[in-house]
Amino acid sequence: MKNALYLGKVSGIRIFVHWTFLILIGWIVFSNLNRGLGGTEILWSVAFILTIFGCVTLHELGHALAAKRFNIVTRDITLLPIGGVAQMESIPEKPKEELIVAIAGPAVNLVIFVLLFFALPGPQSAGGAMDIQHIGPGNFMYALMVVNMWLALFNLIPAFPMDGGRVFRALLAFRMERTRATRIAAGLGQILAMGFIFLGLFYNPFLVFIGLFIFLGAQSEAEQTQTKSLLKGYTVHDALLEEIPEMAPETSIRAAAEHLLHTQNKYFLVKNDGKPAGTLGRDEIIRAIGSMDDNAPVQQAMRAEVMYLTVDMPIEEAWNKMQREKQSFALVGSEDEVFGALDTDNIAEFVMIRSAEQSKKSK
Ligand SMILES: [Zn+2]
Repeated sequence: MKNALYLGKVSGIRIFVHWTFLILIGWIVFSNLNRGLGGTEILWSVAFILTIFGCVTLHELGHALAAKRFNIVTRDITLLPIGGVAQMESIPEKPKEELIVAIAGPAVNLVIFVLLFFALPGPQSAGGAMDIQHIGPGNFMYALMVVNMWLALFNLIPAFPMDGGRVFRALLAFRMERTRATRIAAGLGQILAMGFIFLGLFYNPFLVFIGLFIFLGAQSEAEQTQTKSLLKGYTVHDALLEEIPEMAPETSIRAAAEHLLHTQNKYFLVKNDGKPAGTLGRDEIIRAIGSMDDNAPVQQAMRAEVMYLTVDMPIEEAWNKMQREKQSFALVGSEDEVFGALDTDNIAEFVMIRSAEQSKKSK
């Protein structure tokens, strides 16, 4: 993830902290100063937040390590002020696997809660143990115990795509088709998200962020699942772009921009001696116009590492691969023989056509 500081690696998973995290720390220092607290007290509060985010990291590692058992790779974990995000290469599609992966996170917090519960003497022995507003050596561990209980409970709220919402979808998916299960779970997620936003306006601004995050997340995941189901059973061949506009490597940036403007084409194949040398997309052309000389050759602006897909590859797999490697254009075939290309706009059109066909059938 961009704008994030690398912290380290745990069993192959890189852990980052996003720069906005500093805002959270700043906010804690500021609000504590506002309440007239001194340096030591503020340090305790900051240490407390850092420890909580240590628990959040363990929570995300719980998901990641559970996913690993089902051969799903987690590229990295990023800590944001509203929580952690584990970037998995895919989401388990079998309901049983999704259930286990989703529950593994809150389970970690529950385990921490239980361990602290039995390890600590009764809260009566520590004065003000539950006073989270004033963190000090006397109540640090108690407060940590309580927070872990809340982390487990909060994440289990069935607001898809939060953990509880994933559990809910997995349970539904045992009995119905996955797309439908996702639609129902996402619908409930969005209703709860609006509740969060509403409550947040009165009580805690963080809830507003979390609500927005859930609302948008539910929508995009429901769309993704829908897209995946519409792509199922088709291969790259079915959505192949058969004609790819070509350019010579010495074509000027200005000429490429003219092509972009006066034709329907958005991606170009740069060919050198009859072999693909790179690809040039709208973004690269625009960037080059802003930073290079008009007469510079497109060779200097193109993407030299070309992605190749095979004709018989499932289109869903091709789409995943393009998303993973952040490519919006790929050639189909090999360096020696290019049959065509695939771009993300084209996949989107394919999905729209399939979706329209399906709604006609169900009428
Ligand atoms: Zn989680």
